[in-house]
Amino acid sequence: MSLQEELKGPPPVKLIVDHVSKWFRQKRQTVHALDDVSIEVAEGEFIVMVGPSGCGKSTLLDIIAGLEHPDKGQVLADNQPVSNPGRHRLVMFQESALFPWLNVFGNVMFGLRLKPGLRNSERREVAKFFLHLVGLEKFMETNVHELSGGMKQRVALARALAPNPRVLLMDEPFAALDAMTREQLYGDIQRIWQKRRKTIIFVTHNVREAACLADRVMIMSPTPGRIREVFEVKLPRPRDFNSIEIAQNAAKLTTALKGYATAKEVAVAI
Ligand code: ADP
Ligand code: MG
Repeated sequence: MSLQEELKGPPPVKLIVDHVSKWFRQKRQTVHALDDVSIEVAEGEFIVMVGPSGCGKSTLLDIIAGLEHPDKGQVLADNQPVSNPGRHRLVMFQESALFPWLNVFGNVMFGLRLKPGLRNSERREVAKFFLHLVGLEKFMETNVHELSGGMKQRVALARALAPNPRVLLMDEPFAALDAMTREQLYGDIQRIWQKRRKTIIFVTHNVREAACLADRVMIMSPTPGRIREVFEVKLPRPRDFNSIEIAQNAAKLTTALKGYATAKEVAVAI
């Protein structure tokens, strides 16, 4: 693949979660984390999983990533069963997990070790391209400890995008940030998604975030974790997090969540 093709990105993948169930067996108890979860994700789709804490969102994302194995069912990416982590399904976590001994550029270059077949000069070009995309081209030489929380998550985003994964998996990536920074990142992620058309599966407990970002929202309920309802958000993009339309969609999501969870769980989810 030429460098130009590389920077344009591969055709997005179709992903299938096929009747997945998962139990965590411990000495004293067994937790039924996921029960018969099925999803089909279309190419280039932005899917958001929303549900209260403990409903199995991270477990599902880890299974899609190949970091955990289901007890029943399977995940298919490009019609191939997922059994291990691979560079085509990368996860971005709540904590950016950057290497403090590498600067911004070094962290993105490190992510590119997953990408075979590029010369070092090409890797540098790819790293610069993605740092530019997330608006950090002026901070390439900056040390990680000098960055704000939002900038760290931008570096983590550039690092996850640079190896060109077919699917980007995001586990509450903005949850630890302050509200202003988060809102900037909603703008950034929408801009990047529109430009790259990456297939994204994004996990959150925040209904407004879900309404702002998703093509389709999967509403989950706990004990055991299930997908209870699928909700389409048909608003044009870019979407303004503070718009009335987002608030209206978020209110519908909250009503749906209330049908499947206790009041305490809904309170946590909004
Ligand atoms: P969420 O991300 O929605 O908050 P999780 O997927 O982290 O939920 O957890 C779902 C359920 O599975 C919870 O009850 C949690 O305690 C349990 N669980 C998750 N990971 C493990 C594990 N490694 N060992 C035992 N229980 C786990
Ligand atoms: Mg979680």
